[in-house]
Amino acid sequence: MTSAVVVGSGPNGLSAAIRLASAGVEVLVLEAQSELGGGTRTSELTLPGVLHDDCAAFHPTGVASPYFRSLGLERHGLRWSWPEIDLAHPLDDGRAGLAARDASFTDSSLGVDARRWHRMFDAPVRNFDDLAREVFQPVVHVPRHPVTLGRFGLSAAQPATWLARRFSDEPARALLTGVAAHAFSRLDTPFSGSVGMLLTAAAHAVGWPVAEGGSAAITRALLAELASHGGTVRTGTRVTTLADVAEQADGMPDILMLDTSPSGAVEILGGRLRAGVRRGLTRYRFGPAAFKVDIALDGDIPWRNPDCGRAGTVHLGGGADEMVATEARVVRGELPERPFVLLGQQYLADPSRSAGGINPIYAYAHVPHAYSGDATEAVLAQIERFAPGFRDQVVAISARNAVGLADHNENYVGGDIATGANHARQILFRPRIAGNPYALGALRGSSRDDAVRAYLCSAATPPGAGVHGMGGFHAAEAALRHAGG
Ligand SMILES: Cc1cc2nc3c(=O)[nH]c(=O)nc-3n(C[C@H](O)[C@H](O)[C@H](O)COP(=O)(O)OP(=O)(O)OC[C@H]3O[C@@H](n4cnc5c(N)ncnc54)[C@H](O)[C@@H]3O)c2cc1C
Repeated sequence: MTSAVVVGSGPNGLSAAIRLASAGVEVLVLEAQSELGGGTRTSELTLPGVLHDDCAAFHPTGVASPYFRSLGLERHGLRWSWPEIDLAHPLDDGRAGLAARDASFTDSSLGVDARRWHRMFDAPVRNFDDLAREVFQPVVHVPRHPVTLGRFGLSAAQPATWLARRFSDEPARALLTGVAAHAFSRLDTPFSGSVGMLLTAAAHAVGWPVAEGGSAAITRALLAELASHGGTVRTGTRVTTLADVAEQADGMPDILMLDTSPSGAVEILGGRLRAGVRRGLTRYRFGPAAFKVDIALDGDIPWRNPDCGRAGTVHLGGGADEMVATEARVVRGELPERPFVLLGQQYLADPSRSAGGINPIYAYAHVPHAYSGDATEAVLAQIERFAPGFRDQVVAISARNAVGLADHNENYVGGDIATGANHARQILFRPRIAGNPYALGALRGSSRDDAVRAYLCSAATPPGAGVHGMGGFHAAEAALRHAGG
């Protein structure tokens, strides 16, 4: 029987494990942390009974993922839940751009730009399922929907600043630029519009839902699916060498699947990698960090613009030009006075996360790579800017800087929650330029080890960051193709 060890239990690791186990491979998952799930964990970070997502919170990529859909995770209790408005972007003048599945919210918020907005997003929204199938795989592939992909690519290849210039008023410009800022990169460089185009189309097509009970519900559903195929998991087991793998698995497996960062893969496989592969992984670059602040709040946030109180996600970054400038500073290694902040009100879609009138508020700021200071005050000030009086309702706060995030999950190298910088080369080719970006090849060494083939499946592989399991699925497919042939 073919055997596999999967290192890391994030959504990609578990998806790879499920795909392998469902094909009859004997699978063991090894996880460094005491809790499974990587970026899909949920904890009482502030007060008992108040549930905060430790990392991923909103799941446009989860609900759109072709692999998750094929698994029918609802059978294992996973329930998606949508806020009334998916996304709001408030401005200092009291207006806000809104994105939602219900187009009437977007239309009324964008005024003069509503028709242009529709022209930009009509085709990707109408063909969203086909588009998702194309973009949730390596960029270089033979497309099944070339027209859909080609049209999308023409916009996605542009800088976010160029896309924003198509609009004449600030709500639309800021709304699009704020979504593009999810890439944690400069917004005036080629392909910096790609994340904004895709996530905005997703907001209209499938929404930005949360998982009922917290993102950990995704982990629980994936684990139940894995168990149904006989896969096993072990926590508290950090893998640092191939010898660790052999010890845990009572021998060397046929397939080694790494849901790790590229630097983590080099640490484990070291000199066993072919020189070209090793060089490619070593050249991989990480991006800016997040500074996470979770807040227990008495009641709702007193937004100046009331529509923000109906939105799951609220982007706090001011106007488009301000965000272009602050994101560029963060990439340069400087902490702006008013950094871009993403705020989550998951409890609006899933009230089970609140306790006795105390609501969990989730926020993170974009800060420089490896930032080890305290940006809590900057995050609170940014919220207060659009919701005066907010601070008076704060009951408890929990904060994690880049060091804390990397301790929580070593794939967030230097606090980089995307596990890799989203500059043009790494958007197109990650983790390195290769025919098969998941394959790390046969391991050099003793003849027994030569039989082991290693694969990388984390967010450092296509299609990149997000909870979708598609890196895991494609890497497992590559491993099965090789094992079968
Ligand atoms: C604050 C924050 C907000 C986010 N928001 C969203 C969001 O709203 N929506 C979204 O889709 N995504 C979001 N993300 C990103 C998302 O969480 C990740 O892209 C996703 O979890 C990546 O999945 P993965 O399986 O590649 O790896 P991860 O989920 O990072 O899991 C990797 C796992 O491997 C383990 N591991 C690593 N090395 C070893 C080793 N040597 N030995 C043993 N175990 C090891 C780690 O402990 C970890 O459990 C967010 C992330 C953060 C931190």
